[in-house]
Amino acid sequence: MHDCRGDVDRVPALLERVELGDNADAWEELGYRLALEHDLVFPAGFAALPRLVRLASRSARARGLAGTILRRAAGHHGCDDLLADCADAIAEFRELLDRHLQSRPADYLATFLDLLAAKEEYHWSAVLGDFTDDFYHLACPHCAVEVTIAIGNHGRYSAVRDWHLGDVDRRGLLPASSEKLSSIGRWMHETAVRDGHEALADGVAHLFGRAECPQCASVFNIADEYTSANRPVLL
Ligand SMILES: [Zn+2]
Repeated sequence: MHDCRGDVDRVPALLERVELGDNADAWEELGYRLALEHDLVFPAGFAALPRLVRLASRSARARGLAGTILRRAAGHHGCDDLLADCADAIAEFRELLDRHLQSRPADYLATFLDLLAAKEEYHWSAVLGDFTDDFYHLACPHCAVEVTIAIGNHGRYSAVRDWHLGDVDRRGLLPASSEKLSSIGRWMHETAVRDGHEALADGVAHLFGRAECPQCASVFNIADEYTSANRPVLL
């Protein structure tokens, strides 16, 4: 099980050190050997996952590293068998993250995104923001004009983005009522409401709601169009 430096023996030794007690140097080295640049993940990351999950209930660094590895599990890593072997650990990690969310932590959004990855919702894990100043770009499914969806403190609208004039021809979004949300949208909304994160819940209701095209006035589902526009190409 090689890590991103091509070594096979360092990660097990480092895991033993952090299991004995918090060790900043060992965590740092584990971080760059397992949580990698360019969205890559290596076999050692999946092999280490069960041990990281076991540590995660008492170590924020273990929790963060396990979350980072899972966020990158969407990529092409050739480790599907290793990932499948982690199913129990990932299920345990989902429960741990959900308990952490309910403690109203300072790293709420990061934990929320980690939990989306642990639910294999890699797309939303990668693109969801905190809705203070978020923009989503997609094409109108009817006339193909590029539409900017804004969900933030500055407004919640669909518009055509003009280099000089900014967002023009704005139309207010139509948020989804909670009972009309799709399964993952509903989970996100209910979780944010449960934990008192009103802005996140409200943003999700808009993101999973509908928008009107500024050019042809057709109305479409934002999340569906945004997902299909940004779906990774699987080779
Ligand atoms: Zn249109």
